[in-house]
Amino acid sequence: MRVLLIYPLFPQSFWSFEKTLALVGRKALLPPLGLITVAAILPKEWEYKLVDHNIREITEADWDWAELVIISGMIVQKEDLLAQIKAAKKRDKPVAVGGPYATTSPQEVQAADYLVLDEGEITLPMLVEAIERGEKSGTFRATEKPSVTETPVPRYDLLELSAYDNMSIQFSRGCPFQCEFCDIIVLYGRKPRTKTPAQLLAELDYIYNLGWRGGVFMVDDNFIGNKRNVKLLLKELKVWMQEKDYPFSFDTEASIDLAKDEELMELMVDCSFKKVFLGIETPDEDSLALTQKFQNTRDPLSESVDKITKAGLQVMAGFIIGFDGEKPGAGDRIVRFVEQTAIPMAMFSMLQALPNTALWHRLEKEGRLLARGANINQTTLMNFVPTRPIEDIAQEYIDSFWKLYEPKSYLDRALRYFMKLGTPKHSGKRKITPQVISALFTIFWRQGVIGSTRWTFWRNLITLLLHNHRVVPFYLIVCAYLEHFGEYRQIVYQNINTQLAAYQKASRVESLAS
Ligand code: SF4
Repeated sequence: MRVLLIYPLFPQSFWSFEKTLALVGRKALLPPLGLITVAAILPKEWEYKLVDHNIREITEADWDWAELVIISGMIVQKEDLLAQIKAAKKRDKPVAVGGPYATTSPQEVQAADYLVLDEGEITLPMLVEAIERGEKSGTFRATEKPSVTETPVPRYDLLELSAYDNMSIQFSRGCPFQCEFCDIIVLYGRKPRTKTPAQLLAELDYIYNLGWRGGVFMVDDNFIGNKRNVKLLLKELKVWMQEKDYPFSFDTEASIDLAKDEELMELMVDCSFKKVFLGIETPDEDSLALTQKFQNTRDPLSESVDKITKAGLQVMAGFIIGFDGEKPGAGDRIVRFVEQTAIPMAMFSMLQALPNTALWHRLEKEGRLLARGANINQTTLMNFVPTRPIEDIAQEYIDSFWKLYEPKSYLDRALRYFMKLGTPKHSGKRKITPQVISALFTIFWRQGVIGSTRWTFWRNLITLLLHNHRVVPFYLIVCAYLEHFGEYRQIVYQNINTQLAAYQKASRVESLAS
């Protein structure tokens, strides 16, 4: 069987970093870990070809070659995912879909022949059996969550490694918390399941032997969901990293209770973890309680951010506006919090109800869901009726995003942040290629010579060189991100304003008609 694996396009987003990636000659931030895991679970004697549509087009030769097409993606990729199902069906190819989007919205992917839902360790063997029985369609679901200790090493060999800025690896699935808006606990459950340390080290060995050096993103939605097991992993990883002379640096996502565990933070720094994404969401305690993010209400958030920073881990954080009962000025309160903690990379979006989450079900009962099946991403209006006027929320969102990524205040925030960041123990092996040198020249030219940021750029660079020179490479990476954020804040401004105008026009027409 010849299987064509297709990874759909992402829209431009906070994380897409097109301009920054172009500086270093990369085409995408992360590879499709789900699809290469699928290829590892399916029969070894089948043949596989992977096309990441974020990297290249799908050619007629690819379609001709395929006997089965497998497509997987997240809800933000739905537009291209649906388009690729159509493209495959137009060519009479059997199509199987799976992954988070298909699992939470199976009614939207009915055009595919096979729906391989939930986790592939259980449902992919069902697909294989159905194909072997000659069945032309089917829906395969799992009632249980599989152990991930048997999950094979993903087929990293199918990737065009040089197209990606980071490699992806997964240690655990699931999260013990219960945030109302979160689809991770719907998809993967609240009991974190971890791989064994030996299993994860085998995956690292594999990408090391393929020649990968540099950044590795631990894709776990909450890396510290099972602290006991993560410490066991880190103790072995520390030895592995020493033996290999620190070929990788790691980034990941974690819950804020990381700040309470000094041993864990120290182990992470020892293993060359650099950045940690925290879902802070909002400094408004009422909203945190309402959305059941109780773990963020136990200790002052800014103190937790400072503890993690001083330990030597760079904090990136997510913020959300639009919770029920939110008081006006939420956007400003978020901006003040970000400025106070000086977090350079603050992801900010309006609340969306993701299918099948607790929030989705509550809003459905209350009759407040809008536009089912519409695209949901960081530049779309909220998909439900909020408790305060949507115009106010959207305007605060646009204004706050604009302020956060005003180039000079962004660079100043980065300076304040890197002045307090604990000194990194290991630098991580990123190759100094001609492309990296050319990227540095471009940043120096754009931000240090012709940009309005020139005085800020040089003053910050010199200050860091004098006071905390080991963090200068990180500061320059944050400067490179500014190339993206400068463009992305325009996209947020335009897209939200356009949708807001359409919404207001539709509301006027509705009120005239009634
Ligand atoms: S902590 Fe993060 S992953 Fe866990 S339930 Fe909350 S939002 Fe989801």
